[in-house]
Amino acid sequence: MLKKACWFCKIVGAIAIIGALNWGLVGLADYNLVEHLLGVGTAATRVVYGLVGLSGLALLASYFMACPNCNCCNRDYPEDRRK
Ligand SMILES: [Zn+2]
Repeated sequence: MLKKACWFCKIVGAIAIIGALNWGLVGLADYNLVEHLLGVGTAATRVVYGLVGLSGLALLASYFMACPNCNCCNRDYPEDRRK
C-alpha cells in the first residue's frame, strides 16, 4: 500500500503504524511503549500522540481525496494509468 507512496504518505503511514502498534501493545500486553520511552503525560509523549492523531486524520482524508504529492510524482501508480 505504501511501497510506491510519496515521502509524505510514508511518514504519515509510519506514524499511524507506530500508533496502531502501541495500541496493540496496550491492549494485548498492557504495555505502553510510547509512555515507557518518553514518560507518562510528558510533552514528548503528547507530541507523539498528537502526530498519531493527525496521521489518522490524513489517512481518513485519503478515503475521499488523492494525495497531490503522489499524483505528481508516481507516474506508474495504477490510478494514473487510467487517465
Ligand atoms: Zn502521497
